[in-house]
Amino acid sequence: MVPAMPLGRNVLALVFDFDDTLVPDSTTKFLRSRGIDTADFWSRAGDLVRRGYDTALAWLTLFLQLVGEDRPLGKLTNADLREFGRTLDNDAFAGLPAFFYEVRATAAEADRDAHIEFYIVSGGLKEIITSCGFIAENFRAVYASELGEDENHGLNSIKRAVNFTEKTRYLFEINKGLDATDTSTNPFLVNKVVDQRRTPWENMIYVGDGLTDVPCFSLVSRNGGRVYGVFNPAEESRAKRAFEDLLAPQRVSSLHSPRFGAIDDLGSGLRLSVGNRITALKVEASQATH
Ligand SMILES: [Mg+2]
Repeated sequence: MVPAMPLGRNVLALVFDFDDTLVPDSTTKFLRSRGIDTADFWSRAGDLVRRGYDTALAWLTLFLQLVGEDRPLGKLTNADLREFGRTLDNDAFAGLPAFFYEVRATAAEADRDAHIEFYIVSGGLKEIITSCGFIAENFRAVYASELGEDENHGLNSIKRAVNFTEKTRYLFEINKGLDATDTSTNPFLVNKVVDQRRTPWENMIYVGDGLTDVPCFSLVSRNGGRVYGVFNPAEESRAKRAFEDLLAPQRVSSLHSPRFGAIDDLGSGLRLSVGNRITALKVEASQATH
């Protein structure tokens, strides 16, 4: 992961959902690669939600029920998930990963005190996401769901379940400039009162796929940040989409295809938002010194 920059620079955070925002749904792809009927999987997860299960606990519970000797996924370890994650670089949506370098370069050109940081806040599996090469190279932190292992490394428990509303908690961590390694073992740090927000909301841009990211969209836009909704009409995530539809009022003002190139509407909109924010910060700084 990319190390933190010291305070005293203008930190801009670009926060992304992962599945269906940067790559097609990785859980669906993983399950399918292991021969699981994913339409049935997501439909059964939906049944659990209708019976009162939390959304993240519903699918993580079903996932674990598939793990073990004589079960469909066999003995599965976090190392297996990491191995799968390393195959996802080829799945990145159009314009990635060049987008990450280009945005950083554009920002540095506009103002050498500006510093761009990339974050993932996802309900997906952290071991898969962090093993994806372009994530490891460009992102400062990944907040996502995690599974625990028994003494033989077989997955056997839910360590962390990130559902759609809990995602906002991690936005507060980014806003306050908390270190993800510290907060992973001390969750109460997010309640700490901090004098200076390392990453002001106005410097935050959130990109999510529009169905499950509504609480994050509301939080960021209400506080002056920018939000972009992504809609990927890809067939292969349809079953998971139906599951997510259960909980997501479609309240995003605009939806874009997940294309991050300089002349794509999402890619150019994000570049413009970064450029505009840096200009606004320069104006603020010059007014403060005059
Ligand atoms: Mg998503």
